Amino acid sequence: MIQRGGLEIPTDQPALDVEGLTVTYGQEPALWNADLRLSRGSLAAIVGPNGAGKSTLLKAALGVVPRVSGRVRVLGEDPARRRRLVAYVPQRTSVDWDFPTSVLDVVLMGTYGQLGWFRRPGRKERALALQALEQMEMADLAGRQIAELSGGQQQRVFLARALVQDAEVYFMDEPFAGVDAVTEQSIASLMGLLAHQGKTILSVHHDLATVPRYFEHAVLLNRVVQAVGTVKEVFHRSNLDRLYGGRVPANVPEFASS
Ligand code: ADP
Ligand code: MG
Repeated sequence: MIQRGGLEIPTDQPALDVEGLTVTYGQEPALWNADLRLSRGSLAAIVGPNGAGKSTLLKAALGVVPRVSGRVRVLGEDPARRRRLVAYVPQRTSVDWDFPTSVLDVVLMGTYGQLGWFRRPGRKERALALQALEQMEMADLAGRQIAELSGGQQQRVFLARALVQDAEVYFMDEPFAGVDAVTEQSIASLMGLLAHQGKTILSVHHDLATVPRYFEHAVLLNRVVQAVGTVKEVFHRSNLDRLYGGRVPANVPEFASS
């Protein structure tokens, strides 16, 4: 048992436990009977073609999509009871960046969970937010409007917000999409650091070439979970051929083994 922000977290529970999860928006299921278990400290990529249900899986883990059937547990509890311990980095392109708000304000949103709804962020929260921006090398842009940032800078702001939450579990949706090489490197280092601290990371990842470099575990998803395990165990040519229906993107690296 560890104590975090007034919550007791059983250390023997998986970070994420999904059993028989089916999600449908309309007729076709976006996820079908998905089973997935991630132990704490996992650094995992969700990989699969467009429309495979990758974002849906993250949203189900956040408890924000209706489930047809199945069960989701985050650190042993319903996602709704784990919000305080979960940080979410949404897909950058799914966000309205014209919303008039400053970089610092976006990061301060990360402190709301700890504050509760009725307290406004104060000096301590501002210091934490600036520290997270510092860590993402964005402190000098704290006063900027988010609409004025480049894609890579916007992504750094999201990561700073996730950092300020001081979560146990991080769900990220394509954090590397559309960022420059320097930002890519800092995101990868940050993920490695968090995992090293025992945090759990589950991130949708579109670039197959960098899966072995950045991740330890992989979830191969195409409406059903086709494989889950260490990259070494599951990230193989034959699995990927099956996952992409024989149309594996060209940028796949040499595999560790097969
Ligand atoms: P991925 O992230 O792997 O590209 P998604 O989880 O976004 O896939 O979507 C899976 C499927 O569900 C797709 O067919 C998509 O069109 C559909 N879908 C996703 N979100 C919604 C929604 N809010 N309403 C209706 N259909 C949706
Ligand atoms: Mg998606």
